[in-house]
Amino acid sequence: MIKMHSGGCQCGAVRYRINGELMRPHICHCRMCQKAAGNYFMSLAGVAKENLEVTRGEISWFLSSDPVRRGFCSACGTPLAIDTMAEPVIHMTLGSLDNPDSVHPERQYGIEARVPFFDKLPALPGTTTEGDGEEDQAFLEQIRDTTHQHPDHETETWPPVTKGGAW
Ligand SMILES: [Zn+2]
Ligand SMILES: [Zn+2]
Repeated sequence: MIKMHSGGCQCGAVRYRINGELMRPHICHCRMCQKAAGNYFMSLAGVAKENLEVTRGEISWFLSSDPVRRGFCSACGTPLAIDTMAEPVIHMTLGSLDNPDSVHPERQYGIEARVPFFDKLPALPGTTTEGDGEEDQAFLEQIRDTTHQHPDHETETWPPVTKGGAW
């Protein structure tokens, strides 16, 4: 059975489909991945380039070094890919998948740059987005009702046509 994954950027201008396996799922702490993700690490898995189909828009690229370019959405900035151009495999960001929990990281790379408090993160006090009662519920409702984030599934058209066309 061929596995299929779909994903895309936050705004939905770029959508992709993976017709095949996600290989070597991992997180990378290296300083280049930290910068490219704007985060402590990047989560990635490899895809044979012939199995990656960009179904909407196009990926924009930043040449982070001569052999490697980093793919993102130029409309919303979501990091989408790392492409070592001479290789037959491209790496896609796992957080951009429609089902990010469908593949689990199996390795860490770039641990020389791993933040020293990394292992303490899961122990931080936590709440859900709905909050612990101190969050402004009306504000959360406004975010829910006016989100411009693409939903976690494929769509026929995007952005959706709304009454009045004010989108
Ligand atoms: Zn976007
Ligand atoms: Zn890295």
